[in-house]
Amino acid sequence: MEKISNDADTLEMLDARYLMHPFTDARANLQGGSMVIDRGEGIFVYDSSGKKYLEAVAGLWSVGLGFSERRLIDAAVRQMEKLPYYHTFTKKSHAPQIELAARLIEMAPVPMSKAFFTNSGSEANDTAIKMIWYRSNAMGEEKRKKIISRKRGYHGITIAAASLTGISVDHQSFDLPLPGFLHVTAPHYYREGQEGESEDAFSTRLVNEIEALILAEGPETVAAFFAEPVMGAGGVIVPPDGYWEKLQPILKKYGIILVADEVICGFGRTGCMFGSQTFGIEPDMMILSKQLSSSYLPISAILMNDMVFEPIADESHAIGAFAHGFTNGGNPTAAAVAIEVLNIMEERDLMAHIKDVSIHFQARLRALGMSSTLVGEARGVGLIGALELVTDKVARSSAWPVGQLAGYAFNLLENKGVIARVMGDTLAFSPPLIITREQVDMIFDRVEQVLVQVE
Ligand code: PLP
Repeated sequence: MEKISNDADTLEMLDARYLMHPFTDARANLQGGSMVIDRGEGIFVYDSSGKKYLEAVAGLWSVGLGFSERRLIDAAVRQMEKLPYYHTFTKKSHAPQIELAARLIEMAPVPMSKAFFTNSGSEANDTAIKMIWYRSNAMGEEKRKKIISRKRGYHGITIAAASLTGISVDHQSFDLPLPGFLHVTAPHYYREGQEGESEDAFSTRLVNEIEALILAEGPETVAAFFAEPVMGAGGVIVPPDGYWEKLQPILKKYGIILVADEVICGFGRTGCMFGSQTFGIEPDMMILSKQLSSSYLPISAILMNDMVFEPIADESHAIGAFAHGFTNGGNPTAAAVAIEVLNIMEERDLMAHIKDVSIHFQARLRALGMSSTLVGEARGVGLIGALELVTDKVARSSAWPVGQLAGYAFNLLENKGVIARVMGDTLAFSPPLIITREQVDMIFDRVEQVLVQVE
């Protein structure tokens, strides 16, 4: 066979030749390939030329403990040496998954009774949807299958999870969303609030919209409401005052299951262990992933309360099995790494560190909202934050085509050695949870320089 690459080819050339990337213009990548990240150390990564970057989004909001946590590597090696793989199908089990399930149930902010393990946030959301449909059938409520989520919410990209997702580019040309997935207004006061409307009145309006939709669809047809405590990929949208307080009684009133997608918010990101705690959410199901293993290995989990579990258990007993599961769901090595993440968070009192450093992070972020003529809104909570860029603060508009201003700032920032994330006109930051105050300054000193440069 003819050799299709040779020693002179750089990794970037091979990347362009052989790789199709997620969430990337596949044609654009043919021009020179992508930035190849070679190694990581603490909150920094290095590209193939040796250039150092502060990773200000923790990969995909996920590498909570940074890129070189020896204890996670050791935990993986220990487990691999003992039992690298086993499953939990058909009454088999293994210690790491059992221990992790017990730990997660104990940590959950509201009573949960069971954990089910999967490999990714998308799979976990898909699984939760299947569980919810199965439960409706079990309860003789066959019509109760519709799911409500929010515009700009991100819940993943498998067929059902992408249907939950409320971002149009994730639907475009994929023939999604599936029927029965309904999207309501994003709780973004800055963009969706009306003139003269208070934040609380905005929340009331959105909750009324949700109740009207439930009534129009028929409450007996609505099974669940999925939401991120803070929307991540949709632009870091922090819920307005009163939103969760007003919404939850409505969901309860119509027997609608509340699913908190904690894939980004879980494990400290918002300043509490779970985003549900930060915003007073009492979910019936929780979706966990990303920082659960600091993304060193793929793992995700669904936690459910008895109200969800019991009918599913009855139905599986009647049928003979809950016929759902993944070969690698809750893989012992991934579960061992996740347990070690929880150990480290506890032993190092990472929550106290996050509470302290996030005060500085939020202060530096919000100061840019005051000082820069380009920042329309600086928003965030805990160690997640965003700057929405505009050229006219009063009109809240930009003279640049959507995404280009933030994209330009992002590139300048990357040249200065800081990796952020662009979402439309928004620049987002969610650094590893181990970030120090000095490193927070490194990010925002450079962001400040970039904004001055662009102004
Ligand atoms: N849910 C949320 C809130 C997410 O942010 C993501 C990914 O960013 C997902 C689900 C999907 O997770 P995955 O990419 O692991 O499928």
